[in-house]
Amino acid sequence: MSETPELTVVVPAFNEEESIRPLYDRLTAAVDPVVEGLEIVFVDDGSHDGTWEMIAGLAKEDHRVRGIRFARNFGHQAALTAGVDTARGTALVIIDADLQDPPEVIPELVARWREGYEVVYAQRDEREGETWFKRATATLFYRLLRAITSVDIPVDTGDFRLMGPRVVEAFRALPERNRFIRGLVSWLGFTQTAVRYRRQPRLAGETKYPLKKMVRFAFDGITSFSFFPLRLATWTGFVVSGLAFVYIGVVILLKALGINWPGYTSIMASILFIGGVQLIMIGILGEYLGRIFDEVKRRPLYLVREATDGNTQVVPPSRPGT
Ligand code: UDP
Ligand code: MG
Repeated sequence: MSETPELTVVVPAFNEEESIRPLYDRLTAAVDPVVEGLEIVFVDDGSHDGTWEMIAGLAKEDHRVRGIRFARNFGHQAALTAGVDTARGTALVIIDADLQDPPEVIPELVARWREGYEVVYAQRDEREGETWFKRATATLFYRLLRAITSVDIPVDTGDFRLMGPRVVEAFRALPERNRFIRGLVSWLGFTQTAVRYRRQPRLAGETKYPLKKMVRFAFDGITSFSFFPLRLATWTGFVVSGLAFVYIGVVILLKALGINWPGYTSIMASILFIGGVQLIMIGILGEYLGRIFDEVKRRPLYLVREATDGNTQVVPPSRPGT
């Protein structure tokens, strides 16, 4: 394809063989009539089911479909990054493969972009078919994140969004490894607006974000956009030291008055308390330190095993400043 498509839709997929075809059908039906040229980029994030075969089949049928296959599972955010790196379209939409984000919302996103917004993110009004636990933790997390960061990260918003050409260019230049893309896009700025939608249940299979991945992702979000946990150590330190001074005063006073106050219980309590607080704070330091270590190693974000357009480049292009 020599012409620039107006829109590239990036779809990360990890073991989503049953969803690829229905997504393609609904996506083309909804978006084709409203854009001048469409490109769909599937990124297979190291699936071990038939996802790659589905993608390769679609790419043969329809030249507007391209697929990239990772060398292993590098994670959702890496898959999105690969899609953005390779997209040829002027604007770009990110959408999940599982049809939780309805493709029918995309024309609305495009309409707002044409009005002049550089970023149009889709905000979840309601979530259907997700567990009580997932909804509650997600609601809490987005609000906590907002409270402790200075970046204006919208609540209840995933990666389903449209990015205009300037935002795409700026995004491609971001060098970091630990990526919390929904936050990074907010950090970029430009003009951003929201479109509300209802999040659907998964079409097939189950979530590819088990609790462990979710917690890691949440920590990535917090550590990438806030020093609050680090400051917590300072504040706790001041409070505990203050209390200690008061207590020392009381003990000295009691001694002067000749009152002997046996202290086994209070010594145990304070040792355990201080010990616990210190370990938590060291753990928080460790979270930041581990991520710094990740950054300085400068490993590529992902490796490509194969691509449907015959591109044999294994290592992604290096980013400015890296
Ligand atoms: N995904 C991925 N790599 C992963 C985990 C997930 O590419 O390691 C994809 C997945 O196929 C889906 C999207 O990311 O298209 C969102 O994942 P999922 O639907 O499992 O997350 P949830 O909607 O449950 O938060
Ligand atoms: Mg999903």
